[in-house]
Amino acid sequence: MDLGSATSLSMQCTCGAFKARLERPRNALRVVCYCRDCQSYSHYLTTYAPLKLDQHGGTEVIALAPEHLKLEQGAEQLRCISLSAQGTYRWYTHCCGSAIAVTPRQARLAHVSIAASALRDAGVDVEAAFGPLQVVANRASAHGNALPRPTKQSLFILLYGMGLLLQRSTGRWRENALLQPGTWQPIVPVHVIERTQRQRLLALAEHRPHTRSRIVLRW
Ligand SMILES: [Zn+2]
Ligand SMILES: [Zn+2]
Repeated sequence: MDLGSATSLSMQCTCGAFKARLERPRNALRVVCYCRDCQSYSHYLTTYAPLKLDQHGGTEVIALAPEHLKLEQGAEQLRCISLSAQGTYRWYTHCCGSAIAVTPRQARLAHVSIAASALRDAGVDVEAAFGPLQVVANRASAHGNALPRPTKQSLFILLYGMGLLLQRSTGRWRENALLQPGTWQPIVPVHVIERTQRQRLLALAEHRPHTRSRIVLRW
């Protein structure tokens, strides 16, 4: 969506050691994803912190172009894992296990999913900043019923996709604080988790109901 006059939003990890901001976050998409990978990732982070999934096992993210993400403090706290050799890059902080972002392996795909929890940890009213939920992804693997049904989801995805193409053709995908200029590899080593650990996390994601989650999203 076009956020008009919005210029900068703060984000941080829960303990505050890591800080960043989203500058002029236009063409952003407010998404909840119920996929098993996002659920597995949340279980992975429980090594550090309580489980952060909504009551249906969802993870809320703000999808936007990486050029809007500016790191400010505590970048040395960033860690990056992947659930498989082909999986997306999942960024979190070592200090307190806060999910920060998910990025694709293809650098030219100018896309980053920012954890909405990192915006809320900095006091941002996500609903006020980005409006109603626009996309519900992978609803088949949600737990329970009564999922939100945003209107015009396909239209929002189409508009976002057009923005990605523009970033690619203009070369602005290179403005990505999470990649090293030149090599376009992540700024920290990527740890691909062991297959057995992935299976354990997947079992948790599939079988553990999230009814006691402390995260309740407002649509
Ligand atoms: Zn922290
Ligand atoms: Zn997902």
